[in-house]
Amino acid sequence: MIIDLSRILNGKESIIPLEFELPFKDEKILKNYNIVQASNLNIAGEVTYMDGGLFVKCTYTTNLQLKCDRCLKPFEYTLEGDIFKGIKPETQSDMESEEDDVYYYEGQDLDISPIVMDDILFNIPLQMVCDSDCQGLCPTCGVDLNEKDCECNKEKIDPRFEVLKSFFDKEEV
Ligand SMILES: [Zn+2]
Ligand SMILES: [Zn+2]
Repeated sequence: MIIDLSRILNGKESIIPLEFELPFKDEKILKNYNIVQASNLNIAGEVTYMDGGLFVKCTYTTNLQLKCDRCLKPFEYTLEGDIFKGIKPETQSDMESEEDDVYYYEGQDLDISPIVMDDILFNIPLQMVCDSDCQGLCPTCGVDLNEKDCECNKEKIDPRFEVLKSFFDKEEV
């Protein structure tokens, strides 16, 4: 999404309001986080001139359909965030050492998508669970432990007894 900064760069305005939808398309995030579907990002805020610099100030929200990391059940999650980043002309990017929190615009065009996607990557929880108490699936039988208990742990026989058992079975013959 390209924002035209000309009105602010030629001094006609000191604020450019932002309000738009941005498609959520970042294959890496979508895959790494088991995101089944993501709604468009709703972005609202402004580009503003203050203290001699330009800043992007906005909030974003999107509804995600995810698969729980523990039980694999689908659930919905609203991801929200605030962005406040300095922006500078591309021509300054060579002269100064790259600053961490600064993004660059080319000519009068600011591409806002990387600013938003970077923030999402930073903001998205590492583990996505349907509920912090989710019991997940039994690693042995795959039963959903939120719904019922399984016998896996209780039934486990010490392998040493298993040997003894077969020994006695033979003796009986
Ligand atoms: Zn779960
Ligand atoms: Zn089990």
